[in-house]
Amino acid sequence: MAKFTKAEELTKIRESGRILARVLKQIKQFIVPGITTKAVDQMAEELIKREGARPAFKGYRGFPASLCISLNEQVVHGIPSDRKIAEGDLVSIDAGVDLEGFFTDAAFSMVVGRGKEVAHRLVMVTEESLFAGIKQVRSGQRIGDISFAIQKTIERAGFSVVRDFVGHGVGRALHEEPQIPNFGKKHRGPVLEEGMVLAIEPMANEGDFRVEINNNGWTVVTADQKLSAHFEHTVLVTNRGWEILTDGQKKDDCS
Ligand code: MG
Repeated sequence: MAKFTKAEELTKIRESGRILARVLKQIKQFIVPGITTKAVDQMAEELIKREGARPAFKGYRGFPASLCISLNEQVVHGIPSDRKIAEGDLVSIDAGVDLEGFFTDAAFSMVVGRGKEVAHRLVMVTEESLFAGIKQVRSGQRIGDISFAIQKTIERAGFSVVRDFVGHGVGRALHEEPQIPNFGKKHRGPVLEEGMVLAIEPMANEGDFRVEINNNGWTVVTADQKLSAHFEHTVLVTNRGWEILTDGQKKDDCS
């Protein structure tokens, strides 16, 4: 598990996060009806490279693209293709940046155009749950405090929490310890320490929490074919609390 306390390391991991935030912000403008998911992926790859970084997902365990683009009943790990995004689709975009060995990971979901009311509500609640989890981050808190806050936010809205895929440490590799489940009990699990970097990533389903992996061996889909949404930020644990590295805000104060 990476722990960053040196100023040079903090500068690098913050820069990695800022690049990812900029790329995702630009990518969001491209999500319109008629564009193929492959075209969105190619744009993201170009933008990441133009920033002097590497798309961290590409080639990871053989993953063929720079983005995971998951539509509607797809939860995570959707592979970009010739499929066109349509009005009303619930689109989830997940990306990772490797800046000279400093890794950050982030994701967002959105509904294209009008869409169904429940799709908008699922997206809103999932994002809300991410921030509920982030607010628990502070050295001395435990992973279970994050998990509990996320689960409570999602379930009280009548949605369900995906069990089979969880958040994780990040920083020096795309996936590090500890695992960060989106369900669990307060005051349980590993203790957070200053300098730890966490990828917190709730995945919420409209219906049942169960998921399956489709024929391509990658894409996770809801077992009941209902909608799913996903939000993720890379977060630095500080003494006073948290610092979101992938929201595009400039942070000058070194914690
Ligand atoms: Mg992740």
